[in-house]
Amino acid sequence: MTDEAKDKKPAKKPIPPRMDMPRQDPKARAKNFDEVALGYSEEQALAEANRCMMCKKPKCIDGCPVEIDIIAFIQLIKEGDFIGAAHKIKEKNSLPAICGRVCPQEEQCEATCILGRRHEPSAIGRLERFAADYELKHGNIEIPEKAPSTGKKVAVVGSGPAGLTVAGDLVKMGHEVVVFEALHKAGGVLVYGIPEFRLPKDIVQKEVDYLIKLGVELKTSFVIGKLMTVDELIEEGYDAVFLANGAGLPYFLNIPGENLNGVYSANEYLTRSNLMKAYKFPEYDTPIKHGNRVAVVGGGNVAMDSARTALRLGAEEVYLLYRRSRVEMPAREEEIENAEAEGIDFRLLTNPVKLHGNDEGWVTSVECVRMELGEPDDSGRRRPIPIKGSEFIIPIDIIVVAVGNGANPLVASTTSGLETNKWGYIVADEETGRTSKEGVYAGGDIVTGAATVISAMGAGRRAARAINEYLQNKK
Ligand code: FAD
Repeated sequence: MTDEAKDKKPAKKPIPPRMDMPRQDPKARAKNFDEVALGYSEEQALAEANRCMMCKKPKCIDGCPVEIDIIAFIQLIKEGDFIGAAHKIKEKNSLPAICGRVCPQEEQCEATCILGRRHEPSAIGRLERFAADYELKHGNIEIPEKAPSTGKKVAVVGSGPAGLTVAGDLVKMGHEVVVFEALHKAGGVLVYGIPEFRLPKDIVQKEVDYLIKLGVELKTSFVIGKLMTVDELIEEGYDAVFLANGAGLPYFLNIPGENLNGVYSANEYLTRSNLMKAYKFPEYDTPIKHGNRVAVVGGGNVAMDSARTALRLGAEEVYLLYRRSRVEMPAREEEIENAEAEGIDFRLLTNPVKLHGNDEGWVTSVECVRMELGEPDDSGRRRPIPIKGSEFIIPIDIIVVAVGNGANPLVASTTSGLETNKWGYIVADEETGRTSKEGVYAGGDIVTGAATVISAMGAGRRAARAINEYLQNKK
């Protein structure tokens, strides 16, 4: 070897660009409810897995709220052991096909990925989805062995991600678990809120079926606080109760005209479409007003889902009215991009101040004011300030309000000795979910306020551990 050659360090392998995930064409998908993102093929997953630097001291795991061993599952994908990869993820996350689709990875594992410091980060969420889907398609979903029966009985209120997680964990620990769900289908926001084109409902149903196979009993159309109270559940012999009733009470704008017909909360609009299948009209005859011009107010995931649903229900113009600028939008970047590509008309720095209607009581237009951004407020985002005299009118047929949700007071107000905070959320210990009431635990959005699927699941997992310990010590 020449001296010159010896001096040369081995050239670093160039990092290829992040593997894009195929999606339905924006024009076609704006007219159907099929899933937008199509998932990686095996070749694409292998190529993306090979981009991972396999860091000895990885940071991605620190960014994952449930601490999935990300390096280990990507290594298994690299080796072609896709089912093994799914099993590895499931050691920490029982709903990977769901989280791979809806988790805000760009703010979590992918935000801390070391590769992301100089290049695009590893597509961890897409790889998680790939492994989970592969297992759903090709794997034998085995029912794990359960611990021997403890003779203890737990009631779970609500069947969203927090309730499903706690139920799965506790039943495997040998406890009898009954989930009480107010709606006629289990899954919480995963079935009534997030639309089919983002999260196919058969994936959620498979997870629910799996829990039933494990032995979880599900009582749907059962509203706790109306049919039975938490106190009555305890009197009836439940040894512990987990409250996972979510934050399903919609906030409104409190502006004149909000009682007109054609004004929907995003909750109602999405529930009618997703759960009651208005989008399959006339096969399902669910009343939902079809408008050619639809305004959606808000800038979060719920607003994006509502706007994109309106488009798919046949609207010609869908305006997204948001009082701040695009940078401050709380929705996932991927969903904002999808909405833009599909043709949603973003009216930024725009705030509705009044709704106008006709003699029959239907909304006909929204009066808005233009906004400018001032200093950051308590949320850390720049405060929107109305520009005097800038009012203008947008003609509309429907308006959907997606400005957030709060706690429904029903469960807390019918439970004796249960502490809530000033917003009505249940006060519970972060590590255990323990509330002020003996034997009653809580987690998910009803404790934190509207958050994420993975944080609700994390709360369910921690509470299951604590409830198990409580039951073991209970006489
Ligand atoms: P929920 O999922 O709200 O489930 C609560 C369940 O309790 C419901 O089924 C409800 O019917 C039931 N219930 C309520 N009261 C009673 C009662 N009295 N008796 C019996 N049952 C009752 N998060 C993400 O991470 N990524 C996303 O992309 C995303 N998109 C979203 C889109 C929309 C439209 C919405 C609304 C939310 C979105 N979120 C997203 C937030 C996420 O879905 C929630 O944070 C999560 O579902 C909270 O889980 P949970 O189990 O606490 O409650």
